[in-house]
Amino acid sequence: MNPKDLATTTPITWCPGCGNFAILNAIKPVLAELDEEGIVAIENVVLVSGIGCHAKIVDYVNANSFYTIHGRTIPVATGIKLANPDLTVICFSGDGDAYAEGLDHLIFAAKRNVDITTIIHDNRVYGLTTGQYTPTSPSGFVGRSTPKGLEVPPINPLEIVFASGGTFIARGYSHGIDLLKDVFREAILHRGFSFVDVLQVCATFFNLYEHYNERVYTLEEHDPLDRAQAEKKMREWDYNTDGQIPLGIFYREEAPTYRDNFSKYNSKIPDLDGRIRETLKGYI
Ligand code: SF4
Repeated sequence: MNPKDLATTTPITWCPGCGNFAILNAIKPVLAELDEEGIVAIENVVLVSGIGCHAKIVDYVNANSFYTIHGRTIPVATGIKLANPDLTVICFSGDGDAYAEGLDHLIFAAKRNVDITTIIHDNRVYGLTTGQYTPTSPSGFVGRSTPKGLEVPPINPLEIVFASGGTFIARGYSHGIDLLKDVFREAILHRGFSFVDVLQVCATFFNLYEHYNERVYTLEEHDPLDRAQAEKKMREWDYNTDGQIPLGIFYREEAPTYRDNFSKYNSKIPDLDGRIRETLKGYI
């Protein structure tokens, strides 16, 4: 399969220079490659998106997809995976979507180690609604809802997912497509909850290309299996203060998935899979 086979005829309406293009141009070759290699058939892939500029990505990839409501990508993806464990489920979510409205779902998916991939288009601003602050906007951010500057510091989403039990934690940047492809592939192949925060520049409302270009670097000689080292690297940049910004895979761990534990604790229920499917049918 060629990545071009995954294109759709839907006109792309992102602004010129938007970092979403990089995510789109990284995910298509990865999906095409996994299909070509016989690892993940494209018909078994489901893309799930939320609300925001990021969400349109599912219109631009010719694969099964599901648009959800704001902040609810992860519970919908969890349901899809539980109903049919043979599917490869990939969530696309924005920073507002995942870290504000949907933060509780993110924490629980990490804690449960749900076997899905979550890619966050973290532009650190609400772009679709023209420039309000989000949980990862830096202190002093001037936008429509904070004309005098944001008075509180941002969260570090990597640390939150790590503290919640996430088993694959990575960061990419929309000006580094090769790294994005590598990280997306590894995230999809990881068995368990994979979390990738992509510094996706909003060219219109918060253009950080110059700022990031001067500060990002790729993790090398880093052991993602080393918990202490991973934590140290995640804390190197707090999304607020100036400093170097590491990119790559910070942490990975093999652990039982939600599905493994779910089956274990519900093993006495006859035909569990059939019952889950039957229940979910009512919502489709
Ligand atoms: Fe991209 Fe920002 Fe334009 Fe949205 S508003 S499409 S995030 S550049």
